[in-house]
Amino acid sequence: MRQRQCDFDLVVVGASFAGTATALAAAQSGLRVCVLERKHDPGHKLHTTGIIVKEAAERTLLNALPASMTHRVEQVRLYAPGLKQVALAAPGYYFLTTDTPAVMRWLASQLREHGVELRLGCAFTQARRCAEGWHVANAGMTRFLVGADGARSRVARRCGLGQVRQFLYGIEYEFPGARLAQPGALHCFISKRYAPGYIGWIAQNPDGIQAGLALRHDPAHARVPDIDGFLLRVGQVAGLPLRLAPGPTRAGLIPCSGPVWPLSRDGVILTGDAAGIVSPVTAGGIHSAWEHGWTVGRAIAAHVRDGGPSPERIAIDAAPRFRTKRALRWAYDRLQFDWPFDLLLHSPPLRWAAEQVYFHKRRG
Ligand SMILES: Cc1cc2nc3c(=O)[nH]c(=O)nc-3n(C[C@H](O)[C@H](O)[C@H](O)COP(=O)(O)OP(=O)(O)OC[C@H]3O[C@@H](n4cnc5c(N)ncnc54)[C@H](O)[C@@H]3O)c2cc1C
Repeated sequence: MRQRQCDFDLVVVGASFAGTATALAAAQSGLRVCVLERKHDPGHKLHTTGIIVKEAAERTLLNALPASMTHRVEQVRLYAPGLKQVALAAPGYYFLTTDTPAVMRWLASQLREHGVELRLGCAFTQARRCAEGWHVANAGMTRFLVGADGARSRVARRCGLGQVRQFLYGIEYEFPGARLAQPGALHCFISKRYAPGYIGWIAQNPDGIQAGLALRHDPAHARVPDIDGFLLRVGQVAGLPLRLAPGPTRAGLIPCSGPVWPLSRDGVILTGDAAGIVSPVTAGGIHSAWEHGWTVGRAIAAHVRDGGPSPERIAIDAAPRFRTKRALRWAYDRLQFDWPFDLLLHSPPLRWAAEQVYFHKRRG
């Protein structure tokens, strides 16, 4: 039964992919939803490359993104540390690079169009449990609270939920207006020197180039990623125009240890990066954030409207465990060497393994 004394049925913290999916799913089922987003402009200060995999581009609301905001990439060019390269593709498969600031603003417009009360420039600070649900500072009383507030979730800390403990750190330059020699490929670089624990990348987006790298984040021995050295080393081979001056920088932590525990309790649920729902191998989190957020939003709506099963339980069950990918992450963190990639890049087993990572279960 819905309790009318609450200001909202659901308050969501964070207006990025997970928060938008949660809020839209709930609002489409008739719930009163408020989203708190601390940024004044959702397109500012991004910390994602914003590449969307085919499944998300076709099977979620992201399929309604205006074409002008996306650029289709059908090939991955994988470079060994010595810069030997191999082209990978799967029939019918593609990624979309994006004009990410425009995408984030478009998501905000979708929230408003669907009747969600979006409060921009409004940070979540505190929440207190009470008989009706949660009292959330800056929002009021709500039956359910969802933390979609990223890798360093304040909702998790304030509400006594699990926190992400292991991260990659990614940093990226944007080169507005620039064009790659091969804009139809995502260029990925293996290098223990520049990107220990992950890779570097260069990609064309609808209105420029993005180039970045990510590495294992060790707070005790944090090092500044040498993105300039990386681009000097690989820029030419990937067709990056010479003497480009970088524009805005994107940077951030990427959870890489699987879902947090506990992920939910008594009317409060984490989703997306806040819940640790990011692939520990590819570091892709947009699709999983969207899917989990959507499931959580639907479950809350079913519970509030019809007394459906516990959304807290559904949120836990729907969180991907990434067991194999966590094992691969463990091995890569400890056993990464450059020479096998230089030696074996063109060999069928390495090619097969690379295609599994980029296109696993994604053919056709
Ligand atoms: C450098 C980098 C590149 C990446 N590239 C890709 C990629 O190409 N493809 C891919 O699939 N994944 C990528 N990822 C991962 C992906 O970006 C995340 O998994 C995804 O953005 C998760 O979405 P989310 O909604 O859970 O959290 P986030 O996108 O982190 O959004 C959290 C939101 O909450 C808001 N917020 C935080 N605290 C508060 C507060 N106290 N009050 C109110 N609002 C708050 C933030 O402002 C933000 O809008 C990348 C990550 C990084 C760091």
